[in-house]
Amino acid sequence: MSKILGHTEYYETAMKDDHLVRAHKKLLAQVVKVSDTGCCLVKPTGASGAPARFMVEGDHDLSRRWAWRIYCGPIPAGHRIYTTCGESECVAPAHLMAYRHEPPPRAPRRVVRPRAKLTWSIVQEMRALNEPSVSELAYLHDVHPSTIRAILSGKTWVNW
Ligand SMILES: [Zn+2]
Repeated sequence: MSKILGHTEYYETAMKDDHLVRAHKKLLAQVVKVSDTGCCLVKPTGASGAPARFMVEGDHDLSRRWAWRIYCGPIPAGHRIYTTCGESECVAPAHLMAYRHEPPPRAPRRVVRPRAKLTWSIVQEMRALNEPSVSELAYLHDVHPSTIRAILSGKTWVNW
């Protein structure tokens, strides 16, 4: 395969940019399966289900973001790239969508927990993350990974 099908209006422009040409080669090398539904699946590169990513000349990005940058154009500021087909490892340009990432709304009231390392706003920020990494969040906030998992699954810090 030399090119991924989809809405590819930016592709010709991208191929004039050496950086994106290199990224394109890496992206194609990651594709492991093209399904009947038009999905172009890449092999996850990260540990524990983290989405595929790769680096070109110090430019580190998710594979689906590379796909957008190559086929659709520069990613608008403040936007995240999502897949619309339900396959998190899909990089088919037609299955990608850019959404503006809104910061989480302020909590209606603050939950007072004197000994807690986490606050309601931190919890909301965690839940709003696109691809939360349990181990990174646990390290960052100095709590056990099970605490993070319970938060992300809604078992603790329930909005009442
Ligand atoms: Zn797809």
